[in-house]
Amino acid sequence: MPGVLVIAEVADGKVLPVAFELLGAARALSAEGAGPVSALVPGQAHAQELIARGADVVYVAPESLAGQMYDAWLPAVDAALQQSGADIVLLGQTASLGRDLGPALAFAHRTAIAPEVTALKLENGRLRVTRPCYGGNARAEHTFAGQLQIASAKPKTFDALEPDASRTGEVKTIDAVGQSRITVLSVEKVESEGVRLEDADVVVAGGRGLGDPSAFAMLEELAKLLRGAVGASRAACDLGWYPPSSQVGLTGKTVSPTLYIAVAISGASQHMAGMSGSKNIVAINKDPEANMVKAAKYAVIDDYRKVLPAFIEEVRKLKAQG
Ligand SMILES: Cc1cc2nc3c(=O)[nH]c(=O)nc-3n(C[C@H](O)[C@H](O)[C@H](O)COP(=O)(O)OP(=O)(O)OC[C@H]3O[C@@H](n4cnc5c(N)ncnc54)[C@H](O)[C@@H]3O)c2cc1C
Repeated sequence: MPGVLVIAEVADGKVLPVAFELLGAARALSAEGAGPVSALVPGQAHAQELIARGADVVYVAPESLAGQMYDAWLPAVDAALQQSGADIVLLGQTASLGRDLGPALAFAHRTAIAPEVTALKLENGRLRVTRPCYGGNARAEHTFAGQLQIASAKPKTFDALEPDASRTGEVKTIDAVGQSRITVLSVEKVESEGVRLEDADVVVAGGRGLGDPSAFAMLEELAKLLRGAVGASRAACDLGWYPPSSQVGLTGKTVSPTLYIAVAISGASQHMAGMSGSKNIVAINKDPEANMVKAAKYAVIDDYRKVLPAFIEEVRKLKAQG
C-alpha cells in the first residue's frame, strides 16, 4: 500500500504548526484510501507529538538537519520515501524549507509539484489538488502524471487534528543527511510585537479605503483591545502604509481567525483567498455592494472614520465592565 509522507519542519526546537495541519489533511486522504500516514522530522523529541497529531509512522532524521537548507534534506526524504513506499508528499509552503525542497524533490523524481494547494482529494487512488490560478480569479484542479505526487500548502490552509495522546505509532530512525551546497551568510529576523498575524484569533485589517496611513493607528488600538493582530490588503502595503509582512491574501499570509474585521477593504478575490477561512467576518465599508460586505456576517455601511472611533469606545466600555 502506498501512503502519504508529511515533511515536518522544526524551528527554534518546535515543529512548525503547518506540519500538524498537513497531518490533518493526510489523515483525510488516508480515510479516502491513500494508505498510512508517515512524517519525517529531525529530532527524536518530536516523534510522539507527530503521532498524537495523526502520523502512523515517524521517520526521525538527525536533529542537525533542522534549520539546514533544502538540499541537505533530499537524502533523508528519499530514505523516508523508500522505507514508507509513500507516493504522496505534503510540505508546508515555507520560505525556510518547503518552497525550495518541494520543487527540488519534484525535479529529482522527474515529477511535478503543486504549490499552494487549497484542497486535496483522492480520485481513483490518485491525488487531485485544487489551487488558485489566474491571479486568484479562478481555481484549477490538477492530477499528476508522475508516480510521486508532491503538494505544498500555506500555513492555516488545512485544520490540524486535536492532539490525541492515546494514539500509537512506529518510530524509525533515518541516518541520511546531505551536504548542502549553500552557505547562508546572515539571517535577519523581523521583530514583531504582540500576537503573530498567522496565530491571531482576532485580525483587524485595513485597506486602501483608509485613505491615509495614519489610520492604521486606530486599527492597532482596536487590535490591542481585542488581543489581536493587524493585517492589511496588498493595495495598502503597496502604498507603503503598512509592512508587507502584514499583507493578507493570495500573495500574502493566510489567516483563519475567529473574528476578521475588514476596514475599507473591497474584498478582491486575491484578498479573500487569504482570509475566507475566518469564522466571523465583520466589514466596515462605505459601499454596500462591496464583495467584503457580501461575504461578511455583520457589516456597517458608513465611513470608517465615523464607525471605528465609536466601535473602539464601545469595546473599551464593555472591557471595563469585565
Ligand atoms: C496576482 C495578484 C495577487 C494579489 N495578491 C493580493 C493579496 O495577497 N492580498 C490583497 O489584499 N490583494 C492582492 N491583490 C490585489 C487585489 O486584486 C486588490 O487590488 C486589493 O486587494 C485591493 O485592496 P483594497 O481592498 O484595500 O482596495 P480597494 O479595492 O481600492 O478597496 C477599497 C475599499 O474601501 C472602501 N472605502 C473607501 N473609503 C472608505 C471609507 N472612508 N470608509 C469605509 N470604506 C471605505 C471602498 O468602498 C472599497 O471597498 C493581488 C492582485 C494580483 C493581480
